Amino acid sequence: MTEKATLLTVYKLLPQTNCGECGELNCMTFASNLLERKMTVKDCPPLVKDSKYKAQAAKLAELIAPPVREITLGIGERAVKIGGKQVMYRHDLTYHNPTAIAIDVSDKLGDAEIVDRVNQAEKFQFTHIGESLRLDAIAVRAASGDAQRFSEAVALVAKTTPLPLILCSLDPAALRLALEQKGVYERKPLLYAVTKDNWKDAGALAKQYSCPIVAFSPGDLSVLKALAKTLRAMGNDEIVLDLGFWTRGGLLKSSIENLEMLRRSAIQKEDKDLAYPIMAVPAVAWIGESPDQKATAYRESYMASLLLTRFADIVIMHSLDVWALLPVLTLRQGVYTDPRRPVAVEPGLKAVGSPNETSPVLLTSNFALTYYTVANDLEAMGVRCHLLVLNTEGLAVEASVAGGQFNAAGVRELVTSSNVETRSKHRKLVIPGLAARLSGEIEELTKWEVMVGPKDSSQIKEYLDKFWNGSKT
Ligand code: SF4
Repeated sequence: MTEKATLLTVYKLLPQTNCGECGELNCMTFASNLLERKMTVKDCPPLVKDSKYKAQAAKLAELIAPPVREITLGIGERAVKIGGKQVMYRHDLTYHNPTAIAIDVSDKLGDAEIVDRVNQAEKFQFTHIGESLRLDAIAVRAASGDAQRFSEAVALVAKTTPLPLILCSLDPAALRLALEQKGVYERKPLLYAVTKDNWKDAGALAKQYSCPIVAFSPGDLSVLKALAKTLRAMGNDEIVLDLGFWTRGGLLKSSIENLEMLRRSAIQKEDKDLAYPIMAVPAVAWIGESPDQKATAYRESYMASLLLTRFADIVIMHSLDVWALLPVLTLRQGVYTDPRRPVAVEPGLKAVGSPNETSPVLLTSNFALTYYTVANDLEAMGVRCHLLVLNTEGLAVEASVAGGQFNAAGVRELVTSSNVETRSKHRKLVIPGLAARLSGEIEELTKWEVMVGPKDSSQIKEYLDKFWNGSKT
C-alpha cells in the first residue's frame, strides 16, 4: 500500500520553514490547501527552486496525485476535466471535476439538424443558486455506418461549436478519417472506443493523435483491465473506462454495482489498471424503446441522475428537453458542492427592480438557495423593493434563527452599515415569517417598525398588496 496523503504526511514533505512565500501563514496551512486542491506544489517557491528539496517535491507530487487519473477533454475555455477523484465519498473530501454531460448527435441527421442540435446543446444554460449550469460536450455517433458521412458530421460539429468532442465509432478507419478533418484532432477529442476487437488500430490511433480514448468492455471486467493495460503499454495514459450500462432490472443493478466496483478498485485497492475516469451512457435508454418520447426521456433523466451519484465521471445523454436535463444538472450541482461550506451570497443591501424611497424593505438570510429563491420570486412577481441580506453564515432562516446567527443585533448592524436609511423614507421592515419570534427585539434595537411577513417568499406579493400601505409594487 502506498502512503496516504494526510495533513501530517504532506506537511512532513514541505520545507517547514513557515517563510510565508506561498502567501500562507505557515506550512501547515499550505499543506491543508494542497490537500483541498486549492494550491499546487508549485505554489511553494522554496520547494520548487531549491535543489535540496528536489526529492521531497517529487515525492510530494506523487503523494497528492489523485488515485483516479484526471483527464482533460477539448481545449480552450470550454475544455472539461474529468476524473481526478481522491475519495469514494464526498464527506471524506470535497468532490472535484463534476460529471461531464455530453449530448449525442447522430451522423444520420441532415446538416441543418446537426447544427441546430449542437447549437441547442452549446447554448443550454440555466442559472441556479447563482451558478450557471451548462452542458459539456458533444458526442458524434457513427450511426450511418458510412465512414465518409461520419467524418463530414464530425467536421461540421467541430466547425459549429467550441465544446469538447467525443467521436463514437468502433471502426478505427472511420475514427481516423474523422480525426483527419480540418481542426479535429487539434481539439483533443475523446475517442470512443477501443475494444477487444479493434485495440491494435484504435490504440495506435489514440497514440498517434495524442487523444484520450475510452476502453469499452460491456460487462467484462477482466477484458477492460487488459485493454487499459495494453493501452498504457502502447503509450496511452489518457484512458476512460466503460463497462457498459443497462437500464432494466437485474442488469441495471449489476451496471451500478460495476461502477462502484471500478471506483473501489481504483481508490481503495489502488489498482493502477482501473485508476481512470468512468463513462456511462444513459442514452442507451432510447435503444429499442416505444415511441413514447416523454417516458423515455424521463427514464434517461433518472438513469443519468443515478449514474452521477454512483461515480460516473462522464455521461452521454440524448434528450435535450429542459425538463429532462434540469434535474440532472441541479443534482450534479448539489453533489459537487462542498457539504462543509454552506453556499452563501454576499450580505448587504440589494435592489430588486428599481425601488424608490417608498418601496418596501424586506429582510432575508444569505443562504444562497434562500436568497435566490426570494430574489427570483420577487422579480417574477414584479415587486420593487429593497432587500436586506443578513449574514447568517450561509444558513437558511429557520436554522439560523435557531442557531443564533439570525439575531437582532446582526439586523441592527446591517441596517446601519447598508445605509438603507438613506434610500428609504419610511422605517418599516418586513422580516421573514420564520423569524417572527425576533420581531420585538429587532424593533427595539433598530427602532424600525417590524412587520412579520409570510413564511414562504411565493406569498410576498399577496402579503404586500394586503399590508403594505402605499407600496408601489
Ligand atoms: S512557501 Fe513553502 S516553506 Fe514557505 S510557508 Fe509556504 S509552504 Fe512553507
